[in-house]
Amino acid sequence: MRCANVLHVTPPVLVWLRRDLRLDDSHAIAAAVQTGSPLAFVYVLDPAMKNRGVGHAQFGFIVEGLGDLQTRLAERGGGLVVRRGDTVQHLVAVARELGVQCVCANRDEEPAADIVERAAEDALRAIGVELLVVDDEVNVPHELVLTKEGNPCRTYSAYARGVRRVLDALPAPPQDYDLLGRLVPTPVPEIPSVETLVGRSVTLLSDVPGGETHALARLRRWRDDGFLARYADDRDLVAEPDATSRLSGYLRQGMLSPRRALQVADRAGAPKFASELLWREWFKYVLHHHPDLAERCIDARYDQIEWTGSDAHFEAWTRGETGFGMVDAAMRQLLETGTIANRARMVAASFLVKDLHIDWRRGEQWFRRHLTDGDLASNAGSWQWVAGTGLDAAPYFRIFNPTLQEQRFDPTGAYAARWAPDRPPPIVEHALERDKTLVAYKAVAAEPI
Ligand SMILES: Cc1cc2nc3c(=O)[nH]c(=O)nc-3n(C[C@H](O)[C@H](O)[C@H](O)COP(=O)(O)OP(=O)(O)OC[C@H]3O[C@@H](n4cnc5c(N)ncnc54)[C@H](O)[C@@H]3O)c2cc1C
Repeated sequence: MRCANVLHVTPPVLVWLRRDLRLDDSHAIAAAVQTGSPLAFVYVLDPAMKNRGVGHAQFGFIVEGLGDLQTRLAERGGGLVVRRGDTVQHLVAVARELGVQCVCANRDEEPAADIVERAAEDALRAIGVELLVVDDEVNVPHELVLTKEGNPCRTYSAYARGVRRVLDALPAPPQDYDLLGRLVPTPVPEIPSVETLVGRSVTLLSDVPGGETHALARLRRWRDDGFLARYADDRDLVAEPDATSRLSGYLRQGMLSPRRALQVADRAGAPKFASELLWREWFKYVLHHHPDLAERCIDARYDQIEWTGSDAHFEAWTRGETGFGMVDAAMRQLLETGTIANRARMVAASFLVKDLHIDWRRGEQWFRRHLTDGDLASNAGSWQWVAGTGLDAAPYFRIFNPTLQEQRFDPTGAYAARWAPDRPPPIVEHALERDKTLVAYKAVAAEPI
């Protein structure tokens, strides 16, 4: 929908921030700037976010990001309106208070967010306000990414090739706009603490603070200190915190633009990093085509698997008490910091599904609630990748051996020693459980699709 008449009016345009907590290269802000009207900004902390898997780590990151955004807006003469409660009611109230005729927002493709967006559109329309929603979350809108034959892509590699084809023909670099002198000053908001939001005290050891300022600084420093150049070789070294960018929380909350990140990767000639950035976008594409990604196996045959694992084993896994060093280190690192390196995520996830025979959906929910970067698309997509139930090339018979993975990717034992120094006796024998998994998967994989 277009905000048709805003060019001729002076009331401000309201930018409704969602998972796009930044000023740099936002398509919603660019659309608002184009109207020529002054800009106001609103963010609603909605308790319903909890039902969408947002946990204490993410709330903490968001709260930090809101404080940072308020500072950045104030530096440019504006401010951020922060409300707590039902998103639609607050949007309508703020739109009325500021007398706006148009609200601009970036699309959030998660199914629950889509429902809120539709309700917001109706409620705003009822008071004579237009809602303009634009694509922003990925480098190339999903409907433009097709195979050479014009079909939706079924594998990551076809998707990545499709994205590059579009970007070669229609480059989409980050957009520049000047906000100085165009912003509506609003009172400094009261941003609730994370403890208030989640109803308990929160202690997370994290040296990656939320906020666009930190996101841009981290990207720059990580590149300039030489880590980006070593990324392709080092990214699986789980004990080395700077082996990877640790930008995922920023990308999840839109504190960093996906176009800015890809531009830095491409300009640095870092194809491996660029391809990982596109894995994030691939999973968004998969979610677009499979909105029930977190509920159902993409290959429906695997929904027939009988998950025989016990609750006791699930709890041992969540506490990091399985007796397998990399699994335990990963699970304790998650509880203490809200993050886990990718390699350790794969090993811990594979262990839950293939060694403990527990439904990948339970692990997906646990990860999403505890990760700072917990993201429906990347998390559910990755769990289905590990479980071998999805579209892509992780066949079910590829089963990580947690001991060999530890020897290979934590060769000095520093990762396990840092996070899980004690080593309880193993709760299962890998070789036996591997065989059971192969039997269970083979039984359903033998069925024709
Ligand atoms: C079981 C499992 C669950 C996961 N859950 C999430 C999640 O909830 N949210 C999330 O953002 N990522 C998830 N990932 C993907 C990946 O582990 C993280 O993105 C990565 O570890 C974040 O660290 P980084 O920013 O240092 O990544 P880097 O290696 O520096 O990569 C740069 C960016 O590329 C993207 N990226 C990298 N690897 C992947 C990948 N395999 N899939 C999708 N995007 C990727 C991320 O946005 C990341 O920030 C999951 C992976 C597994 C195996």
